[in-house]
Amino acid sequence: MLPGDVARKEEGVVDRHCLMIPGPTPVPVRAALAGAAPMINHRGPEFGALLREVTEGLQRILMTRNTVLLFPAAGTGAMEAVAANLVAPGERVLVAVAGEFGARFAEIMRVAGADVRTLDFEWGTAVEPAAVARALEEDPSIGMVVVTHNETSTGVTMDLAGIRRAIPRDDVLLVADAISSVGAIELRPDEWGVDVVVGASQKGLMTPPGLAMVALSPRAWEKAGRTRCRSVYWDFAAARRFLEQPTPQTPYTPAVSLLYALRESLRMLEAEGLENVFRRHAVLARAVRAGVRALGLRTLAGEDCASSTVTAVVLPDGVEGKKLLGLLRQKYGVVLAGGQGRLAGRIFRIGHVGQVNWQDVVVTLAALEMACRDLGLEVERGRAVAAAEEVLGAEG
Ligand SMILES: *Cc1c(COP(=O)(O)O)cnc(C)c1O
Repeated sequence: MLPGDVARKEEGVVDRHCLMIPGPTPVPVRAALAGAAPMINHRGPEFGALLREVTEGLQRILMTRNTVLLFPAAGTGAMEAVAANLVAPGERVLVAVAGEFGARFAEIMRVAGADVRTLDFEWGTAVEPAAVARALEEDPSIGMVVVTHNETSTGVTMDLAGIRRAIPRDDVLLVADAISSVGAIELRPDEWGVDVVVGASQKGLMTPPGLAMVALSPRAWEKAGRTRCRSVYWDFAAARRFLEQPTPQTPYTPAVSLLYALRESLRMLEAEGLENVFRRHAVLARAVRAGVRALGLRTLAGEDCASSTVTAVVLPDGVEGKKLLGLLRQKYGVVLAGGQGRLAGRIFRIGHVGQVNWQDVVVTLAALEMACRDLGLEVERGRAVAAAEEVLGAEG
C-alpha cells in the first residue's frame, strides 16, 4: 500500500483519485460549484440568459454557426434523436463501423427502421474515405453517412474532412458522433461539411454526465422538415422553436444545474483558448503513447490516426486486464478503463480528456509502470516517465 493511496480514500481520508477514463471526466471545482446554484424558473428570464450563453458558447467550441440543441440525456439519447428526426423507415443509411460506438450507431439506426448498410473497418484502424466513396458510388440510394469522429473504444480519430470530400454527392448528409471529441479535438463542421454533430457533456466539456447536444446544418434541417419525427421528446423542430423565442426555453424541463456547470466549463475552455485546448490534448496524448511504448506495450492505433483523448493499449501476453486495472485502482489510486465489445479482455484504455494536465499523465505512467512490475513484467524503473518527459520537455 502506498502513502495517500486509494485505500485511504475508502476510509474517507483522501477524497480524490486519478480518474483517467475517457468519460465521465473530472469536473473542475468551478463547474461543480456552479452546478450547486439555487434552482430557478426554467420559463423565466434568468434561465433564458443561461441557455443563450451556453448555446452560443457551444457554437464557438463546435466552430459552427448552426443551431445547437441541448437535451437532458446521455449522449446515446442524442444519437437516437438523430435517427428519429432525420431518417424515415426504410431509408438507406451507411454507417462506418470501426469500433463499439460505430456499431452502436448502426444498431440505433436499425432499431429506428433504417435500411442500414455497414462499412466495416478493422478495430484500431481509421475509416478510409476512399471506401466510403466506393460504397456511395455502388449504391446511389444512400442518403446519409454516419461516422464516429473519435472512436473511443479503439482510440482512433477519423478524418471527417477527408470523408466529406470523398462523398460524391452534395445531398448526402454526413453525421458525426463527436461525443468524445467535442471540446478536445479539432472539429470544424461548417468548414468540413459535417451536417450533424452529436456531443455530450461528460468528456471534453468537463461537465457531469446528463447533457446531450446536437448541431444541425441547414441541409440537415431541410431533411428534418421532410421527415416525420417519430418522437415527442426528441423533436428537433420543437426544440428549435422554443430556443428561438425572445426568452429562450426548452420544450420540457431542462437540466438546469448541469447547464450552470457547463456554462462554467465553457468559460474555462474559452479562457484557455480553443487552439491551446486542442494542443494540450495532442501533446499529452503523445506523452502517454511514448510512455506506454517505453514499457514495451503496444498501442492499438497507429500513430497516424491515434486519438488525442484516449489511448487503447494492447494487453501483454499473460496479463489479465481486470487484474491490472484492479491493481492500479486499489494500490495506486489510478482509474483506467477496460476494453469494450470484442476488445474486452484484449486492451485497456487510458483516458486523457477534459481537465487533464501533465501531472496526471506522469502519475498515470508511473503507476502503470509499477503495476506492470508487480505483475512480473520486466520493466526498468523510470522508463515510462522518462519517455513522457522527452515529449513534454520538447514542448516547454
Ligand atoms: C461516450 C461515447 C458515447 C456514449 O455516450 P453516453 O453518454 O454514454 O451515451 C457515444 N459515442 C462515443 C464516441 C462516446 O465516446
